[in-house]
Amino acid sequence: MDMRLTAEDAALAAEARAFCDEVLVPLEDECEEHDGLTPESAAAAKQAVLDRGCNAINHAVEDGGRGYDVFQVMLIEEQWGRATGALWDIPWRPSIPLAAGTEAQKDRYLRPACAGDRRDAYAITEEGAGSDVSMVATTARRDGDAWVIDGEKWHVTSGDVADFFLVHAHVDGDPAKATVFLVDKDTPGVRLVRTPKYMHTFVFEHPIFAFDGVRVGDDQVLGEVGQGFELTKDWFVEERIMIGARTVGAATRALELSTAFAADRRQFGSAIIDFQGVAFMLADMAAELMAAKSMLYRVCWDAARGGADRKRIHAEASAVKLVCSETAGRVIDKAVQIFGGRGYMRDQPVERLYRELRVDRIWEGTSEIQRVVIANELAKRGPEAYTGWPGSDG
Ligand SMILES: Cc1cc2nc3c(=O)[nH]c(=O)nc-3n(C[C@H](O)[C@H](O)[C@H](O)COP(=O)(O)OP(=O)(O)OC[C@H]3O[C@@H](n4cnc5c(N)ncnc54)[C@H](O)[C@@H]3O)c2cc1C
Repeated sequence: MDMRLTAEDAALAAEARAFCDEVLVPLEDECEEHDGLTPESAAAAKQAVLDRGCNAINHAVEDGGRGYDVFQVMLIEEQWGRATGALWDIPWRPSIPLAAGTEAQKDRYLRPACAGDRRDAYAITEEGAGSDVSMVATTARRDGDAWVIDGEKWHVTSGDVADFFLVHAHVDGDPAKATVFLVDKDTPGVRLVRTPKYMHTFVFEHPIFAFDGVRVGDDQVLGEVGQGFELTKDWFVEERIMIGARTVGAATRALELSTAFAADRRQFGSAIIDFQGVAFMLADMAAELMAAKSMLYRVCWDAARGGADRKRIHAEASAVKLVCSETAGRVIDKAVQIFGGRGYMRDQPVERLYRELRVDRIWEGTSEIQRVVIANELAKRGPEAYTGWPGSDG
């Protein structure tokens, strides 16, 4: 079993690390102080994304993407996840279900999104529909040759910079006819309700949008009527794996900073790393991170190159998200503790990561929902997806 990265994969990870260190990290203080970037910084960062080939890393070359497999996308996101302020969201990664569009839809939405000329946001969640997506109350009904969409969507990440949405709605109010519609933001009836403030500093916003009698054509149905849940599930799977990647990257940075700080900081005549109470915290951080990262790499390798089928990837992505986000939560909590009062100051990356990593246990399915997925898989197919190994029978 050769677990070494290929030269190509190692180079991709190194380039991603350089992009994070040279482009994203220098923007952290500005993002924190101004709750986002100035238009000048945002424009410069966008140009850097294009210059360094960091756009659309998850889409095919023929659609304007970089053509990387999920293992490579994970390696890149792990490095970008080191940045605070969710600056990792600057390099746009158009939602994966857009690849299911027709050629005309790809020309109108996906390809311009890969090029950075358009930007998407995915709108599923509502006031009454969170973990239980079947409770979505946004409806689409037929009116002549158009669809009319009514509803309200919450927490629409990057909705402020997006110019079109993937709207998860129920045709005729029927959850069995869940459908994803491509809705241009400038369509009459699309309305910004409000832009709430959140715990973290995020380079973009998560606004609430209303859809009041929004008319769209058949050419704005992504996939088939009734295929919405499957498309949204594909989005969840990719996002869950990428949360795994970014939380591992963020926690790695926290461990590096904490180890260096503990070696440098002196109290009672010693470096604090010499106190077992501190050293054991670092030891737990390192060991748990190693376990999470090993799992992340194994699952992504299996998904990209090991022949895992869609069901297995769905099952394993939940375990990745659960373990990596919960591990990162424990790691960052200890990092703040090791930094003492400094760990509570917003000019410290560990403080910012402490606030930012909290949502990773909530969005794209809470930790409880990941456990529900894992438990369902155990009940349906047994433990093999979790206890087996690629290439073995058991
Ligand atoms: C910053 C941020 C950005 C987001 N971005 C987006 C986005 O871009 N697009 C989008 O569509 N959504 C987005 N979301 C929404 C996010 O995915 C939901 O908040 C999340 O899925 C949880 O739904 P909820 O908030 O309604 O909580 P609820 O579903 O109401 O859950 C409340 C609590 O009950 C628990 N619970 C619920 N059901 C069960 C169960 N069966 N068993 C055990 N426990 C259960 C949950 O785990 C949780 O602890 C975002 C949220 C945040 C905070």
